[in-house]
Amino acid sequence: RSAALLERQHRRESNARTYPRHLPIAIANASGSFVRDVDGNVFIDFLMGAGVLSLGHNHPELVQAVTKQLAQITHGLDFPTPAKDAFIEAQLSMLPRGMRDRMKLHFCGPTGANAVDAAIKLCKTATGRGDLISFQGGFHGSSHAAMALTGLVEQKEPVANGMPGVHFFPFSYCSRCPLGLAPDSCAINCVDYLERSLRDANGGVPLPAAVILELVQGEGGVVPANREFVRRVRALTRELDIPLIVDEVQTGCGRAGTWFAFEQYDIEPDVIVASKALSGIGAPVAVIFYDAELDTWAPGAHTGTFRGNQLAFAAGTETINIFRRDDVLGNVRERGEQIADRLAKLQLNPWVREVRGVGLMWGIELADPLLGQPAGVLARKVQARALRRGLILEVGGRDDCVIRMLPALNVSASVVDTACSMIVDAIEECCG
Ligand code: PMP
Repeated sequence: RSAALLERQHRRESNARTYPRHLPIAIANASGSFVRDVDGNVFIDFLMGAGVLSLGHNHPELVQAVTKQLAQITHGLDFPTPAKDAFIEAQLSMLPRGMRDRMKLHFCGPTGANAVDAAIKLCKTATGRGDLISFQGGFHGSSHAAMALTGLVEQKEPVANGMPGVHFFPFSYCSRCPLGLAPDSCAINCVDYLERSLRDANGGVPLPAAVILELVQGEGGVVPANREFVRRVRALTRELDIPLIVDEVQTGCGRAGTWFAFEQYDIEPDVIVASKALSGIGAPVAVIFYDAELDTWAPGAHTGTFRGNQLAFAAGTETINIFRRDDVLGNVRERGEQIADRLAKLQLNPWVREVRGVGLMWGIELADPLLGQPAGVLARKVQARALRRGLILEVGGRDDCVIRMLPALNVSASVVDTACSMIVDAIEECCG
C-alpha cells in the first residue's frame, strides 16, 4: 500500500518533494514516539515532523486543548483573543527574567522562513542599512530571502539573481575547520575574519543591518557553535550596534535542553526567531521576539493572512504547561546524556568522524577514513537500514553525511535505548 501511494505521489506532486524519497513510507497514523505506515509496520520516529512534535504525535492533552478551541474560534487574523493572550503570556514567561519586559512579539506568517523574513525586514527598517551577515552551513528556510541567507549552496545554485548584500563568514565547525585549524590552538580564528572584515572601512563588508546565527546548525549537520565564537560575535555586534538575530526555529522550545539555546551561551540576542515546535502539535505558527528598541515598524509593516491560528495558540499554551508540570526539559537533558553514552562506542568505528549533539538534537558524521571526505552515500545507506529495522532518521549536513536524530522531547528511556541499538547495528552493518 505504501508503494502504491508513493507511486501516486510521484505522478501528481512536485519533483521538489523531499522526505519520502529516502524514507519511502506512507503514514496511516501515529501516537507518541511511534508511526504506523499504511501496511501496518510500526516505526520509532526520530524525525518528529522535522523537530515540530515536541511532545510526540497526538499528545492526548494537546488533542484535548485543540478540540476545545475548535468550538471557540479557529482563525482570528491578528485580533486579540483569550487563546492568543494566554499564548503570549506563556511564551514571554519562558524568556530569561531580564528579557521578559524588554521583548516584544510579532506573529509572522505560518512558517519559520516567514519569521526569518520578518526579522531581517525589522532590522533593515530599524537600522536603515541593507547588508546582512550570515554563516556558512546555516539554514534559514526556503522563501527567497531566507534561502539567500542560507549557507548551504545546493538549494541556491539553480535560482538566478539571489538577494544581493548577503555576506557569508566561517562558522565554528571545529571538526571540519574551514581554516584548517585545530580547536585547542586556533584562538577562534574564524571569528577574527568576521571582526577584521567589519572593522575594515576600506576593504571589508559594509556595516550590516543584522547578523543572523544558528547556535546549533541543524540542517547544516548538527553543529553546535563554539561558546567563545558566540560570545565574541555577540560582543562585536553589541559594540558596532548591529542587531543579532538568533534563529531558534530548530533549537528552540526545549530541543537544546533549555527553552532557548541562547540561554546556554550566556548571551542575549536582539531578535529571536521561533516556529517549528511552538504549538507542539504541528499547527503552524511563527514569531519573532525582539528588543522593543527595534520597534520602528509602521502599522502593517509585516502582514500575512495566517497569523492567527487559535489551534496553535491553545496547543502552544498547553505545551508549556506540560513542560513545567512534567519537567520535560529535565528529560531532554537526561535522554541526551543517554544518547551520548549509548553512541560513544561508535566513535571507535573508522567511518564515524564525530558523534555530537545538544539536548535531543544529535548527529553522527560519517567520513571516509582515508580521505576524510563526507560519506553521504553511506549515511543514506544507514538511514535505509535503520528504516528496515524500524527507525525513522533524517540525514543532513554537508553532502548529507550526518545522520540526524530529533526524537520527541518526552521520549522514554526505553525508546531511546531501542533506537540507539538500531542505529549502532545499522552503522556496524554499513560501515563494518
Ligand atoms: N531556520 C531553521 C534553523 C530551520 O531549521 C528551519 C527549518 N528546518 C527554518 C528556519 C525554516 O522553517 P520553515 O521550514 O518552517 O520555513
